[in-house]
Amino acid sequence: HRQTIRTSTHNYDVTVGKGLLSEFVNYLPKHYQQVFIITDTIVQPLYAEALRKSLETKETKVAISVVPAGERSKNIDQYYQLLTDAIQHNLDRSSLIVALGGGMVGDLAGFVASTYMRGIDYVQVPTTILAHDSSVGGKVAINHPEGKNLIGHFYPPRAVVYDVETLDTLPDHEKRSGYAEVVKHGLISCDSFFRDVLTVDLTTSLHHELIVSHLQNGIQVKANIVEQDERESNIRKFLNFGHTLGHAIESELGYGQITHGEAVAIGMLFAIRVSEQENQVTLPYDELYQWLETNHYPLTLPDMDVNTLIQRMKKDKKSSNAVVQMVLLEEVGRPVTKNISDDQLSTYLM
Ligand code: NAD
Ligand code: ZN
Repeated sequence: HRQTIRTSTHNYDVTVGKGLLSEFVNYLPKHYQQVFIITDTIVQPLYAEALRKSLETKETKVAISVVPAGERSKNIDQYYQLLTDAIQHNLDRSSLIVALGGGMVGDLAGFVASTYMRGIDYVQVPTTILAHDSSVGGKVAINHPEGKNLIGHFYPPRAVVYDVETLDTLPDHEKRSGYAEVVKHGLISCDSFFRDVLTVDLTTSLHHELIVSHLQNGIQVKANIVEQDERESNIRKFLNFGHTLGHAIESELGYGQITHGEAVAIGMLFAIRVSEQENQVTLPYDELYQWLETNHYPLTLPDMDVNTLIQRMKKDKKSSNAVVQMVLLEEVGRPVTKNISDDQLSTYLM
């Protein structure tokens, strides 16, 4: 279950499977004498010891820092504290940072790695479904009070080691959040993958083989795009399918009220409707709606003012100042970008 991802600086392997934490060292590109694990307060008691055990030997020292779980830890103070920890643990240019957790830890630890001593190696150990998206592609960042991910880098990891057994402990809303991004990868790549994703039932315990194949396919879709457009000058924008309205809903409701993926799910339904109108095509709106409903995605929103939403959509950093640019579908697997006027948007949003 291994895929290789090419970047402009180096290639790295992504391994997805069961029980990988206990044999973690086998997936490292080389031997490291000093390893610094960064994780959060929810993941640490679940998986940090297993990872430490598999790393610690006479030749390898392991240190661990734990940050509070939640998006708020992606801030400059936490970042600075982790740099201080790294210095105190005597990390040098040949040490390794391991990001053990979801996208929050991945972005934060990756950003620490990208700047500590002008950049040291790091490895992603994703423990959320959403992190199939965030752990690949090399974007690392922290937030600024003025906006998410405003301080960051393109800095790919040296490996991604994805143990799907860690996903069993995810709460339902985090499963929904992550699977929305898998659905997105299906919609922008190919109909058969999309249909296959809709066979999953998130209301029962996760089926490991099915999830391994979905995560690998999702990672492949993302990898194909970022390999062609590492720095988001053109097609990487397609990964924002569903995100224009999704981000607006997320920030309007306030983070913590709805997960990222749940907001994106609503955004994808909207983007499909707009696509059908703009491109005069029929898309699997009903199938997606049905699947989302069956899996308890929140689909009815508290009343939100249409103009406020449009203003929020404009603040989305992917849109140029005046008009909202949306990712639409010509058919499943054929995304395009299109500018949509405010008037059109408000008709679609009514
Ligand atoms: P997260 O890391 O905050 O994880 C969500 C919650 O699940 C947290 O409370 C966490 O403690 C908990 N958790 C993690 N693993 C668990 C497990 N195995 N069992 C039980 N609980 C677990 O968030 P996320 O949804 O994984 O990722 C969102 C973050 O990813 C955001 O900061 C977003 O900006 C970032 N992101 C980055 C990229 C990128 O390309 N770099 C792409 C998408 C998202
Ligand atoms: Zn997203």
